Amino acid sequence: MGPADRLAGLRARQVVDCRGQAVLPGLVDGHTHLYQALFRGLGEGLSIVPWLCTFMWPVSIAVTGEDAEAGARLAAAEALRAGITTVVDNHYAPTDLATVLRVAAVVEQAGLRGAVARGIVGERTPLAARRGQPDALFRHSSAEELELTREAVRRHPPGSKVEVWPAPLNLTYVGQDLVRAAVELAEELGTRWHTHCCEGSGDPAGYAEEYGVRPVAWLAAQGLLDARATLAHAVWLDEREIAQVGAAAAGVAHNPVSNAYLASGTAPLGALRAAGATVALGSDGPACGHRQDLFECMKQTVLNQRLHTLDPTVLRARDALEMATREGARYAGVDAGRLEPGRLADVIAVDLERSHLQPVHDVESTLVYAARGSDVVLTVVDGRIVHRDGHCVRVDERAAAAEVRQRAGELLARAGVPAGPAGPSPAPRPTR
Ligand SMILES: [Zn+2]
Repeated sequence: MGPADRLAGLRARQVVDCRGQAVLPGLVDGHTHLYQALFRGLGEGLSIVPWLCTFMWPVSIAVTGEDAEAGARLAAAEALRAGITTVVDNHYAPTDLATVLRVAAVVEQAGLRGAVARGIVGERTPLAARRGQPDALFRHSSAEELELTREAVRRHPPGSKVEVWPAPLNLTYVGQDLVRAAVELAEELGTRWHTHCCEGSGDPAGYAEEYGVRPVAWLAAQGLLDARATLAHAVWLDEREIAQVGAAAAGVAHNPVSNAYLASGTAPLGALRAAGATVALGSDGPACGHRQDLFECMKQTVLNQRLHTLDPTVLRARDALEMATREGARYAGVDAGRLEPGRLADVIAVDLERSHLQPVHDVESTLVYAARGSDVVLTVVDGRIVHRDGHCVRVDERAAAAEVRQRAGELLARAGVPAGPAGPSPAPRPTR
């Protein structure tokens, strides 16, 4: 954790033996939806728009505040087990003040740091209606959305262990005035802001048809694109938009598993990074990422880019590690991501002595291509152990899983969505 001479005078309250382990900065999940632990395994075989219209919106409308809290608790524990220490949880169903505060409390109680990016939709736009978004999704007026967000940020201001950020849910279908107001609110309150940005291949064309301009080009032209922006996906940008995102030093959360699962496309990571964007990695939540596992995301990031470009040098293991740690921390605005004196003490250890990781010829390659989230044996956030040897210190995972299982069954029945051919899930066993 620092030069030996700096540590020489210190007496640790607790000594952790990490021999045979890789010690690295805690991982940053730049885009997730923790409450979606309720939906894991549903919505198979659909691309993004049908996935949203036939599965995600109908079930998310039926989610209660208690459901959201339960899902977030289970996914938070899963994240900690896999060495994630910071999350950007884009929460969007339901988004009343009490639920947002409860989800933020769950994230913090579990031991994570980060932000709950409160999903904002406002009034249904003609474009949202054409894309099949149900009216029931739009519960708050634009004025109410902004007021609720302002109050939630007041309770979790910048610098909190878990902040709240404004998050117009999707750059394409949230109205332009509300996007502008949400970004201005972030500027006024000194927070970052978050949005889904050009995830689907049809997003830019649909937007251009409605507004006569591409979505990111509009943001840039309005002066709304800056280093506070954290854009999830950014798959379908043209060259000018890539340059604009880079020039603004904006953040991008790349979600390789979700993008592959929903057949959304391959983000232009090389061009975005070269242009100056800060690129983090995201799991995109249990509904389309299925695991809160950035080891999987690191590997898929490299593999997808190589497959897409047919260039084995386009991204290396080290790049993926940087995106999951250093770049992720910069994206999220947390002073972590490096093991250096003075930084936040967010540290994880990976057991390298497991048989599928041996022998270790190149530790970076081993971590990115061979390791799994379940190889993490220690997760420390803010100097406190929150997971050790498969046991989350602050979450009763069996109880959390049992609650999610029960709530998910009731939720699907309420929403009229079948549980799928696999039927009800069996009782959980401890996982390693
Ligand atoms: Zn998402």
